[in-house]
Amino acid sequence: MLYTSTRNNTIRVSAAQAISRGISEEGGLFVPCEIPSFSLEKIASMVEMNYISRAKTVLKEFLTDFSEEELDYCVNGAYAPEKFSSERIAPTVNVNKNENILELWHGPTCAFKDMALQLLPYLMTVSAKKTADGKTIVILVATSGDTGKAALEGFKNVENTKILVFYPVDGVSPMQKLQMTTQEGENVAVCAINGNFDDAQSAVKLIFTDNNIKAQLAEKNMMFSSANSINWGRLVPQIVYYFSAYCDLIEQNSIKCGDEINVVVPTGNFGNILAAYYAKRMGLPIKKLVCASNSNNVLTDFIKSGEYNKNREFFTTTSPSMDILISSNLERLLYHVSGDDAELVNELMTSLSTDGKYTVSNDLRDKISVLFSGGFADENGVFETIKEQFKDFGYLCDTHTAVAVKVYEDYVKSSGDDIPTVIDSTASPYKFSKSVLSAVSDDLGDISDEFKTVDELNRLTGAEVPEPLKALKNKEVRFKEVCSKENMSEMVFKLLNI
Ligand SMILES: *Cc1c(COP(=O)(O)O)cnc(C)c1O
Repeated sequence: MLYTSTRNNTIRVSAAQAISRGISEEGGLFVPCEIPSFSLEKIASMVEMNYISRAKTVLKEFLTDFSEEELDYCVNGAYAPEKFSSERIAPTVNVNKNENILELWHGPTCAFKDMALQLLPYLMTVSAKKTADGKTIVILVATSGDTGKAALEGFKNVENTKILVFYPVDGVSPMQKLQMTTQEGENVAVCAINGNFDDAQSAVKLIFTDNNIKAQLAEKNMMFSSANSINWGRLVPQIVYYFSAYCDLIEQNSIKCGDEINVVVPTGNFGNILAAYYAKRMGLPIKKLVCASNSNNVLTDFIKSGEYNKNREFFTTTSPSMDILISSNLERLLYHVSGDDAELVNELMTSLSTDGKYTVSNDLRDKISVLFSGGFADENGVFETIKEQFKDFGYLCDTHTAVAVKVYEDYVKSSGDDIPTVIDSTASPYKFSKSVLSAVSDDLGDISDEFKTVDELNRLTGAEVPEPLKALKNKEVRFKEVCSKENMSEMVFKLLNI
């Protein structure tokens, strides 16, 4: 299996090269040259397997340059049952009739990013051994909350790696901040920046491409890499859980092998739903991919009209991981749906960076709308949905998941298409305790600190508090540093001790 770039399809690299480089040199994203296909018999054979074996079955098709032993080492390390609060790793829970929730937040940081970021460090160190001749990999992350913590936890104490995370000083939830500032591990560092997420992201990108800085790192036998969802190594682990959820539904007698399902995904950067698209292309019987957005509904409009336009008001919502106007992974979808047209992708991406918008042809728009349906939920819809899911079915969901549930309900109403459906649940409700509590209770009680809010939500709903969040209460804050966005590169040197 070889990979090419969305902006130059003459490029050919191995999986190990795609993963250790992160992004192609001309700015395109790596995509598989062909997409493997699974027969229904093969899918049926996965029903008996545990999550680790299901993961290996899928990854094997994409990582053909990894040996059997290397793959075993990666999946056994990443999905070791003791790191997850469910022995099924990603359990599928029937909530009501054909509504099934795929819980992707049982990992160490209680958000779905763990599903990929527990595996990425293994994929990256194995890839680096094949391609990067013993260099120490320095992972540089700008985060709006979940990615930073999940990457820290994934890379902590991983040999030959160091990880530096920058977060906007006022741009993350109190729980997310605590998760990062108390991070353990010898090879980790965390720093707040005076600025917003875009400032952090732009500064990180500048450091990545600064030849002077790169040369100074090379002298110390170090190189940068990225843990963000433009890296193929973050996308491929996400394909696994769609197969796994389908197998769970067969196991639960909700469907027979071969029956179609719908999938609903709360979307920001378009990574998670793109993984579902790959699963469909591989032969998983998915009828519709439902893309759920919050008030930042640039994707809803794109799927309906064919025009992508980020020139619009930006809303700060209670589902912050979806507050995004540039969905990077859409580039990969455009490449595949246009029949590998790198020239077109180049044109569209140039237009996006110069004018903030682009329009696809009617033909391309129609192809996309056969595959995808788009919808969005506003803040009121999110709160009402959390409240109703809890009242009617005793199921407590977080704000991001609520966006997806609301869009699912609207989709069923408007289309009449109510076949068995998998809705991705992307975070534990306790990561956003205050929002969730105010949805299910009129009297908030004592919420003077984050842990009191957690306790109050627990008292009221009985939903279990994840151990990793409970444990934060007694952890020492290790990282208090704040820097300006102009001083980030100096901070990188300081944190690396060079
Ligand atoms: C990252 C994230 C999302 C969005 O996923 P994408 O792959 O970026 O579309 C949704 N919910 C939560 C909780 C997240 O952390």
